[in-house]
Amino acid sequence: MYLTSFGSLWREGVKRKRFIDSNYISEEVWEDIEWDYINPDERSFLLTRILIPVIEKAKKEDLYKEAYKDVDIESLKKYERFEDILLHLPILFKDNTSFGAKGLRHLVEKDPQIMKHGRKEQACEVFRSSGSKGIPTPTYITTKDIRLESHALGFRCFVPGGFDDEDRLYSTYNLAHKGGRLIQLAGRCIGMEVIARRPEDNLEEVIDMISSYKVNALAAVQPPITDDDLSAKGGGVTFLSLYKENFELFGENGMIKKAFITGFPIPESIVNLAKSINLKLFTTYGCTEFIPLATSTTEGDKCLYNDQHILYGPHIIMVVKESNGKLERVAEGEKGMVLVTTIGITDGRTIYLNYALGDTAVLKWEAGKCSCGRTTPIISDIKRTDHPGEMLGGGCRYV
Ligand SMILES: [Zn+2]
Repeated sequence: MYLTSFGSLWREGVKRKRFIDSNYISEEVWEDIEWDYINPDERSFLLTRILIPVIEKAKKEDLYKEAYKDVDIESLKKYERFEDILLHLPILFKDNTSFGAKGLRHLVEKDPQIMKHGRKEQACEVFRSSGSKGIPTPTYITTKDIRLESHALGFRCFVPGGFDDEDRLYSTYNLAHKGGRLIQLAGRCIGMEVIARRPEDNLEEVIDMISSYKVNALAAVQPPITDDDLSAKGGGVTFLSLYKENFELFGENGMIKKAFITGFPIPESIVNLAKSINLKLFTTYGCTEFIPLATSTTEGDKCLYNDQHILYGPHIIMVVKESNGKLERVAEGEKGMVLVTTIGITDGRTIYLNYALGDTAVLKWEAGKCSCGRTTPIISDIKRTDHPGEMLGGGCRYV
């Protein structure tokens, strides 16, 4: 049986209390916004039904089999919350740690093919992360990964951020980067007309295109602002450089009414600017390996700008800390390490379990406190750290 909708997945998982073979979940399941609104206990139970078969599969992969050899699937089946399952699994770190855990980046540098286990038949592309903290990590991404993530980004991030099929979107992102590709595809998924900047186009040419095509929505990066540097990573055109070149294009009196801005966090001055000119502004948290992870909307009172609702599927994140040698979720208001698990796999997707990608975040609000109606927690203050492994004492088990 092929599960093609959120409803069919829910009936299999929650109602019939069955474990779900993730090889038979369609990509479209992860575009359904219902994920963000259902009862948190039901969502959690449903995710356990999908997660267990993923762990079973991972146990056979080169990357996990040594660390997971003692993981007992039967004992994990007793948990009704996916968090409780993940808290009992080893962590996969991005970099080597001082207590001897081998990082994924180290393994990938030695043999990039390690990421391809079980996906040898799949059409793959290699994207390199931007390497904002040192060496870029090469990542194999399958065609299915791209399709699934762009659906999720379009329907669960762009739409709540105010983009719709009437809009014409200009994206300044580099199409050679995964984020640039996904923004283009996600826009198309929801029926937008998308115009992407060619890498050689300068500020003037970008403004020409925006004006002549009557663009009303913008996707642009905005890194933290320093006085002398308005340039974006990889030679991109930033939001602020565009605004400074032609501010009349923006806001209620201009052509561009909505903007999707990344490069966490959005600087406070940009947030204030957007408020003052009535520009709808939202952002999504993700990285080369995982898009999207969390998103802000323009609907709620707590999920604005840098305060973002966690998305459950196609990846799930958990903010954790170590306490007495055990891993636990942080409490509201606490800062912790971000762990990512790829749950929405169909046949031929990359498996990441409890991956410490190097980010920290604060759990700002627990589930159900935002007026937008989403039943997911909100995270904030997302930061990249050099050595996530050093945040933990080494008492837990690691890959
Ligand atoms: Zn909200």
